[in-house]
Amino acid sequence: MVAFLARNRAMRYGIIGAFFGFGYAFFAVTLDSALGTGFESLHLLLAPVLLGTLALIIGREEDRIRSQAKLLDDARERFSMLTHAAITERDWTVSFHDPAIPTCWEVKHCQQSDCPSYGKQHVRCWLIAGTFCRGDVQGRFAQKLGNCAKCDVYQEAVKRDPINEIGENFNSLMWALREKEDLLAEANHELHQQFAELEELQQQTRELADTDMLTSLRNHRHFQQFLHREVTKAIGNGEPLSLLMLDLDFFKSINDEFGHQKGDAVLRRLGQLLLAEMRQGDYAARYGGEEFMVVMPGIGGHDALEAAERLRQKVRSVAADVGLPDNYVGASFGVADLPDCASDVASLIAAADAALLFAKRKGRNRVAYFRDLSETELKDGDLQRLHSRLEGASLQTIRALAEAVDTSDHYSDEHGKRMKSVAEKMAGRLGLNQEQADALILATRLHDIGKLGVPGSVLRKKDKLSPEELSMIKRHPEIGGRMLQEVKQIQDLISAILYHHERWDGEGYPERLKGEQIPLMARIVGIMDAYRAMLSDRPYRKALTVEQANAELRKGAGTQFDPQLVEMFIEMTVEQDPGLRAAV
Ligand code: GH3
Ligand code: MG
Ligand code: MG
Repeated sequence: MVAFLARNRAMRYGIIGAFFGFGYAFFAVTLDSALGTGFESLHLLLAPVLLGTLALIIGREEDRIRSQAKLLDDARERFSMLTHAAITERDWTVSFHDPAIPTCWEVKHCQQSDCPSYGKQHVRCWLIAGTFCRGDVQGRFAQKLGNCAKCDVYQEAVKRDPINEIGENFNSLMWALREKEDLLAEANHELHQQFAELEELQQQTRELADTDMLTSLRNHRHFQQFLHREVTKAIGNGEPLSLLMLDLDFFKSINDEFGHQKGDAVLRRLGQLLLAEMRQGDYAARYGGEEFMVVMPGIGGHDALEAAERLRQKVRSVAADVGLPDNYVGASFGVADLPDCASDVASLIAAADAALLFAKRKGRNRVAYFRDLSETELKDGDLQRLHSRLEGASLQTIRALAEAVDTSDHYSDEHGKRMKSVAEKMAGRLGLNQEQADALILATRLHDIGKLGVPGSVLRKKDKLSPEELSMIKRHPEIGGRMLQEVKQIQDLISAILYHHERWDGEGYPERLKGEQIPLMARIVGIMDAYRAMLSDRPYRKALTVEQANAELRKGAGTQFDPQLVEMFIEMTVEQDPGLRAAV
């Protein structure tokens, strides 16, 4: 009984209502008898019945509402599970299925066997009925349904509960999505294909942009990018890297004599040859017209020279390959390497380029190494060309170029050696530390490096210079200073170069410094520079003898030069060359 009451809310409410009815009746009967109204029996009978019935109805209604709320909760939970599956697993086959919905044959009052297409599941019936009546999504099922496929199946199934209708809409939506997903998959597949084609096209375009059409080698643009990458890597890993620059010899005459097509055939064949001869990791590019670059990461100058020599010999075979007379095709090679010849991309290319120029000067069809560069003479135009490529060049490069300036100025190596030794001695006498002494010695070689920035035609002009030309020449200390600014350890050197044309009396350039305002090293280099000039032929006079030069220095002591340093310098040069003692 207690269990029954615990389960049955309506009965519980009814009994409680009746109990309150009795309470009310007892109160009313007491009042009736006190007042003598005569309604006692009526109250006693009606109040419990009426209140009990009312409470029973309320209890029932609450039960109904509660059960609907539970259904709603269940439905919501099922929806959320289904939606989750649809979203996360992209499973459009999920469908909402309410067990309370009658089967099709129940609705139609027929047998399951009458409606074979419905299968055994309620949900299928529900689904098909719904979609069949509400839209054409599942129109194809219509043929299968037979007699049971009528809208009243849907109506019957749905009308009982709004949750069913929501569920049906969900199912229809899923069916629609399932259909669309097939289309989507197809479209997606097509899109993927188009994307892949596009990527391939892009790759081809990129390849084309990086490739030289004639030789199929990489082009200038790609070479620059590649070299930057490889140089950074080589410096980072402390590994060597070599650059070979090659230029066909007298290529113009092949074009002229045999036509451009033959010339093109030579270039094409050379491209094939370079590709065939590359080691794993090597790289070849057409740098321009008939100039090619080969990058050899991981190997230094010696091995690169051997590789270049091998290539040089192979290039000789190109003539026969394209049907030209023997020896008609040859190439000159310039080789430079990291870290021995350069410290960055610009100086590496400049160094290989310089070496290539030397190979040409020496007679073509040969290999030249940048470090042998100072043995060879440079011409004016070459210096200009080198200077224009000398952005951020290393000390090594600068030193070699300074030597080139020396040789092109026709100062003898002997003189250079003597001045080096004088500089060493002066450094000792003046108490300079090792670093300053090194800088001074270097400055004696480098002080005119700025002349690389002055046109050769001006430097070598025999006639009187115009004011513009004179001011061009006067810029060489500044240019030299700027060129060396990048090289950190030689700040002393920079001031020595920058101020080596200042005068003791303040009449020099570029800043008209006076006396000891002029850095010590600049004063020394100034004396050496003048001395060197005195000892060489000039357009306006013959070279002085050592005695005459010393006398000239003394004449300038106190006006052009630091007098103490002049004496010290003369003393040192005499020590260097005792034969001069008598003359001084
Ligand atoms: P050197 O030994 O001093 O290098 O002499 P060279 O004749 O090879 O050098 P020069 O710079 O005087 O001539 C280079 C020639 O290369 C001129 C140019 O017509 C030719 N050239 C450049 N690109 C091509 C090309 O794509 N096809 C052909 N056929 N010739 C080219
Ligand atoms: Mg050439
Ligand atoms: Mg060329």
